[in-house]
Amino acid sequence: MWEVFISYKKGVQDPEGETTLKGLKILGFKEIEDVRTAKVFRVKGKISKERIEEACKKLLANPISQDYKIRKVDEEEGMRVRKIKNGTVIDHINPSQSLNVLRIIGIDSNYKKTTVTVAMNVPSRKMGLKDIVKVEGIELSEEEVNKIALISPNATINIIRDYKVVEKRKVKLPDIVEGVIKCANRNCITNSEKVQTKFYVESRNPIKLRCYYCERIMEEEDIAKQF
Ligand SMILES: [Zn+2]
Repeated sequence: MWEVFISYKKGVQDPEGETTLKGLKILGFKEIEDVRTAKVFRVKGKISKERIEEACKKLLANPISQDYKIRKVDEEEGMRVRKIKNGTVIDHINPSQSLNVLRIIGIDSNYKKTTVTVAMNVPSRKMGLKDIVKVEGIELSEEEVNKIALISPNATINIIRDYKVVEKRKVKLPDIVEGVIKCANRNCITNSEKVQTKFYVESRNPIKLRCYYCERIMEEEDIAKQF
């Protein structure tokens, strides 16, 4: 998608801007010195910058009285993903799962180390809706983020340095999952004693985990219930 920003050239009369300025003054906004109107067109389609420029000259802008600026906007990844300076962006999280993702990677209300931003139910071309989590200043390790695959197998991890994505990878469920989820077998030792759960990953699609202690097979349903 392209954004075309149209504004009046210097010295050109802008009646709407002038009227607005007068109105604001009457309302007591004495500190406002000038108001100029501008317009933004959002243009979708597989079209080059040159062609957009052509469209500007022919219709979108009046070349005599108006200036235009064109910039490309990536709708899906958008600015949401790129805006942090350094850190980790977890993208393509299944919709409404971002809080569970935070829980899995160990970010809770006691986590005061850094800025964490959560975007829920963001429109996505690929997924319909998705969640995004941005953790500033921290590059999460593969081990830390891979467990996310339990609830969000399509999640992608972007490592950001100086506003640039320097690494991009999909989450991959590890061979062994420790902690995170409880065993569904009530009689399992992990449910009665202070033993951390441990599961072998038997299958990834569909997800099947086998408890190291009681052999209970955990299916997607058993896992989803816990989140
Ligand atoms: Zn068990």
